[in-house]
Amino acid sequence: MKSRRKFLQNITGSVIAIPFLSKIEYLESFKNIKDRSYDGPVLRVAIMGLGSYGTRVADAMKDCTKAKLVGVISGTPSKITAWQAKYNIPEKNCYNYENYDSIKSNPDIDAVYIITPNALHKDAAIRVAKAGKHVISEKPMSINAKDGQEMIAACKKANVKLLVGYRMHFEPKTLEVLRMRKDGEFGKVLFFQGLSGFQIGDPTQWRLKRESSGGGAMMDIGIYSINGARYMIGDEPIWVTAQETKTNKEKFKGGIDETIQFQLGFPSGAVASCLSTYSMNNLDRFFLNAEKGFAELQPSTGYGPIKGKTNKGELDYPHVTHQTVQMDRMAEIILEGKQPTVPVDGEEGLKDLKIIDAIYSAIKSGKKVSLSL
Ligand code: NAD
Repeated sequence: MKSRRKFLQNITGSVIAIPFLSKIEYLESFKNIKDRSYDGPVLRVAIMGLGSYGTRVADAMKDCTKAKLVGVISGTPSKITAWQAKYNIPEKNCYNYENYDSIKSNPDIDAVYIITPNALHKDAAIRVAKAGKHVISEKPMSINAKDGQEMIAACKKANVKLLVGYRMHFEPKTLEVLRMRKDGEFGKVLFFQGLSGFQIGDPTQWRLKRESSGGGAMMDIGIYSINGARYMIGDEPIWVTAQETKTNKEKFKGGIDETIQFQLGFPSGAVASCLSTYSMNNLDRFFLNAEKGFAELQPSTGYGPIKGKTNKGELDYPHVTHQTVQMDRMAEIILEGKQPTVPVDGEEGLKDLKIIDAIYSAIKSGKKVSLSL
């Protein structure tokens, strides 16, 4: 039994192993229930930015087997106290934005997960890297490719890993579609449609301030369609065209995009047609069309359950808590050197940023922009 469990742990997240496993064994590898008998290495994580998504990650990490929340970085003392009580965090692992460079001399923290507004990711990542800790950054990794490159260079120099919170890269139904596509079950991929959007509320929030967000819906939610187009098609785009529309010029001002439609062209001739918006609800859909079949995920990137079907029928894989699985898999990447099916490293984050830069540039010029990823 023990060796079977070890075997399953070893193949965790690897779609290559599927043909050799029954579906039940494959599903077991995605289980998101804490394995209390596990006695291997554990990634000890401090979360920076104790907001809404930080809280979701912290709650999800309670069920992790290989990752553990052990520290916090926050500018709000009352939040630190509340998190200490809720997540059992010792005083010596609590930092604020002035003193967190001293995390360098804390041997009980391996990595910092940056979950602050987008424009703050870069400087935080560089400081964390300089402190010798692995960096996990939320998406978007930063607000443009230049900043992304600086983050990658800083982490390389400090010899620490840089990962991006692409939780969908570990989601079972998504991975099953990718397995089917890789195994040629759909035939030649011709078209992808990605719809990513929601109606944003409070006009005073940081997401609608360019200095904090770096842009509008594209940075926040449109990035899911960019990233999705790449992993669903399984290739890198070589050109982009884009068009912007605005229905509310007052709410979406100062470089905040409301709605952008964009198209990505791939070397095979496949095309992606995507929509990113802050003004429409019920937009969370991926559709992949290929010569012999199709795959549809709707919802495709929400917290789940993700629902999906292909020309062969419903995808009946069970729901997992994305953030639990993501953090266990990231622990394996950092501590055990494992390679995920779809990368979650800085280079992966940088590719999306290069596409975002190109989308904004295509809107400005009204022209097709070439991409070299
Ligand atoms: P939030 O506003 O709920 O939380 C942001 C946190 O950062 C707050 O605790 C805030 O106090 C702190 N903060 C530190 N410095 C700040 C500053 N100068 N201005 C404003 N806040 C500051 O936001 P969120 O929804 O938790 O988003 C945080 C990050 O997580 C973003 O990069 C976002 O894109 C990402 N996110 C990812 C997902 C996902 O599914 N992967 C989901 C939601 C958010």
